[in-house]
Amino acid sequence: MPELPEITVKAHQMDKRLKGKRIANVEVRQPKNLNMPVPEFLKTVKGKIINSVWSKGKWVFIRLDPAYYLLINLGMNADLIYFTPKHKLPEKYQFKLVFADNTGFTIQFQWFGYVHLVSEKDLGKHKLTAHLGASPINEELTPEHFEQLLANKKMGIKSFLLDQKNIAGIGNVYVQDILFKAKLHPNRKVSTLSEKEKDDLYKAILEVLNNSIRLGGLAYEKDFYGRRGKFTIDEFLVGYKTGKPCPVCSTPIEKVRTGSTHSYICPKCQSLK
Ligand SMILES: [Zn+2]
Repeated sequence: MPELPEITVKAHQMDKRLKGKRIANVEVRQPKNLNMPVPEFLKTVKGKIINSVWSKGKWVFIRLDPAYYLLINLGMNADLIYFTPKHKLPEKYQFKLVFADNTGFTIQFQWFGYVHLVSEKDLGKHKLTAHLGASPINEELTPEHFEQLLANKKMGIKSFLLDQKNIAGIGNVYVQDILFKAKLHPNRKVSTLSEKEKDDLYKAILEVLNNSIRLGGLAYEKDFYGRRGKFTIDEFLVGYKTGKPCPVCSTPIEKVRTGSTHSYICPKCQSLK
């Protein structure tokens, strides 16, 4: 499942490649991905120009001129891949966008996903993106803001990190190493964290996510050019490493059930105080 690093890498590539291109045509093979009837979608999007592309959490935001946004969510997994007239298109795709210069991109959803078109004035009312929390890789998530988010929360720290309304973009993949680096058991209650633990957790979030961005994201996800990231299973500290020695103390890593998700922990470094 793509998380913040994979979406960030892709949005950055899209921004560089697509800026200034005019939308000439769209093919929709799975209308349920859209938030409006296909004819209305086509009529609205055709002729618009890509102004910029960025990401927030697991969403790609494409700003169109004039005054619209194309909001894409790749769901559990999807290939969103660029093409030029020289490329052979993938056999299967649910969505294809073609620019006036005959380049474009296709999206092949593996499970579900969204391609929503929203006017500038309605952006704040778009239910799925309007309440996204702070993005951890830009200035939005300052240490002060992080502290405020943690204040008065009663849940476990893992549930807090996975809630997209708090921080946007962390999922069950990267949260494993974030908690390990901060030496926190996933079930530790937010209210029991010391100042130092909060500080360590903030640093761990930035370190783990930025490290993956540097490597181009997960090796099982494709970027905008169909290339795989360099973040392989070997890069994880404890994630997906059941039975392997903890990189700090050599205690075997355990896979434990924590609420509705699984967690990979070092039982010694991440003891439940
Ligand atoms: Zn350990």
